[in-house]
This record gives sequence, C-alpha cells and structure tokens, in this order.
Amino acid sequence: MKVPFNYLPFEFEDNVKIFDRWKQLIQSTEFTLGQYMEEFENKFADYIGSKHCFGTNCGTDALILSLKSLGIGHGDEVVTVCNTFYATVGAIVAVGAKPVFVDSNHRYQIDPDLIKKAITKKTRAIMPVHWGGASPEIEKIIEIANNFQLEIIEDACMGIGAKINNKSPGTFGKLGAFSMHPLKSLNVMGDGGMVVTDDNHLASWIKKYRNHGMIDRDNIDLWGVNMRLQPLQAVVAYFGLNKIEEVIKIRNKNAKILDNELCKLAPYVKVPQRLENYIETFALYMILCDERDELVKYLNSKKIEVKIHYPLPLHLQKASSNLGYKAGDFPIAEEQSSKLVTLPVHQYLSENQINFMIENIFAFYG
Ligand SMILES: *Cc1c(COP(=O)(O)O)cnc(C)c1O
Repeated sequence: MKVPFNYLPFEFEDNVKIFDRWKQLIQSTEFTLGQYMEEFENKFADYIGSKHCFGTNCGTDALILSLKSLGIGHGDEVVTVCNTFYATVGAIVAVGAKPVFVDSNHRYQIDPDLIKKAITKKTRAIMPVHWGGASPEIEKIIEIANNFQLEIIEDACMGIGAKINNKSPGTFGKLGAFSMHPLKSLNVMGDGGMVVTDDNHLASWIKKYRNHGMIDRDNIDLWGVNMRLQPLQAVVAYFGLNKIEEVIKIRNKNAKILDNELCKLAPYVKVPQRLENYIETFALYMILCDERDELVKYLNSKKIEVKIHYPLPLHLQKASSNLGYKAGDFPIAEEQSSKLVTLPVHQYLSENQINFMIENIFAFYG
C-alpha cells in the first residue's frame, strides 16, 4: 500500500466550478486586480476576521510587505524562531534587517520565555511563526511585545484554518502573512499569498506599494513594486476557502488517531503536546523519533512517504554564517532537527493508509 505525502493529484479533481468562473474572468479580461481579486480578498478577510486583506504573489511577499509597511529595514532587528521555513528569515534579510533567532520549545514553536533575552535596542518587531500549522503561545508574545513597544508580524503562512480561542492566526499582531503555496492548507495552482491588517494606514500603504505605488493610472504616490496575486489564482482560492473547514476537520481527525497510537511508543517516539483551545491545521504532522534516519528509510521502503522539516536549523545554515551563531546556541531546535519526522496526515488518506503507517512504525520499534 502506498501512503503518499503529496495530495495534489487529488486536490483539483473537481474543478468544474473553477473552470466556469475562469471562463467568466477570461471574458471580463480582468487579469490584474479587479472584481475577482476583490471578491476573494473580501471573503478571506471575513473568514480570518480582519479588516483588510491584500492578495500577493506569495507568502514571502506578504512578509516583505508587512515588514516594509512598518518601515523596518537597515539597522533594525527582528526576533524570530530558528526552526521555520526559510522565507521567514529571507523576508527579514530582504528588507535589510537582521534576523535574531530564538530557540523552539517542545511544541516546535518559538519559546516565548526566551524572547526577552533576544531583544536589544535595535529590535523593532517580533515575527512569531505558526510553524507547521500549530501556533505559538501568542498571548505571552503579545505581552512581551507590549512591554518592549515592539510590533508583531505573524508568519501565519501555514496557519489558514487554525484557531487560538476561536481567533485566527494572523489577527493577533499588527499584520499577518499567509501563503497559498500548493503544500499549505489553502492552496492554489501555483503561488499566492495574503497580508491582513486592521490598521487603515498600513492597509492603504500596502495597497499602493503592492501596485507600483499608483494612486491611479497617471499618478504615483510612492515608488512601489508589483506584488499582486493573480486573479486566476484568486478564483482557485475562492473555492478552496469553501472547503477549508472540512479539510481542517479531517486532518485533525487523522492527527488524533496518530497521536493516540504513537504516544504508546514513548520514549522512542514523542508526540508533541496539543494545547487546549488551539486548533491546528496539521500542515505538518511532526513527531520526534529515536533512530530517525533508519526509521525514515524503513518507512520510505514501505512506500510510506515521510519528510523531515528540517534536518538543519536556520542558524546553522551557510546563509547564516554572518550572523554569529554556532552549534549549541539553540539546543532544543538542534536536538529536534536530528529527530523530527513529518508523516502524511492529509485529507485524502484512508483509514487503511493511516493504520498501515501506524503498524509499520510499531514494527520498526519491534
Ligand atoms: C510557506 C511558508 C512561507 C513562504 O510562503 P511562499 O508562499 O512559499 O512564499 C513563509 N513562512 C512559512 C512558515 C511558510 O511555511
């Protein structure tokens, strides 16, 4: 039995609605911005519970726009976590600021108790990541940000459909950035992203900057760039949003089965704690496993596709060599990077496939 990690072959099997709407779009020729974009942006803002939403090329752009809208750049520091997707750090560096890392905790999220130590006179913002579609302890982070008068930009790229006390990731900070990359919970047929905020002033800046700084065709208010989402993708996202709650429900059901069984393999396998009132998207279902590399080989040989997110924490990447970190600086993330395994948990898995996966992990540990 094959247990695929990649669910995309099943994701767009039912595409009649998308094609119908695309036909209308093509006839309208609204290929940049316009009605189809706004329709999606409004729907997403409503879903997330934010006042403003702007579609962008990708999640990385959404992060860059967020940072730039606050005027963060050269000489500024942004505190984030050392285990996240590369784009979190890439965006900070792209605006000219310096990323300052904090270790992760046992839920693979930024450890709020270590943030204070990372703050300097140059710190402008904290960028917490909803890593893997789980959320950090956002209330604690808000308290620190308030105490030090720092902004919060949430990297909620994997967090669409997650909740903390019924509130969406991306709505706790000043700005929230989301991605619709094919491997995120809300995905399009290529790249896409959104930035949300409740702040009118930031919203009007982002709206302009995303579109060349234009007020209208003949007048430029500031020099901007083109970071617009494609309306064709906005249509895909519009219909994707209709299914997101169902997707998250199934993934949570699958994750619960895995949690309940795999926790029996302690201490060889560690399942992370699930916090009360936190709903996760399970963009990544991650556990810590002894003899990780052998387990990964074993499972892949059984056609169970598992991944590692990631084998090298960001402070030890070559790209970080000018930041002054060394091995041992972030012991939790470093240990996790040698034990992490990401299992398939997506909405197209059958009960048989999930059981097959569990049986094989049990078989590996004898
Ligand atoms: C996917 C992702 C991004 C970047 O999103 P793209 O749409 O691929 O640019 C940024 N941060 C995190 C945590 C992500 O998972």
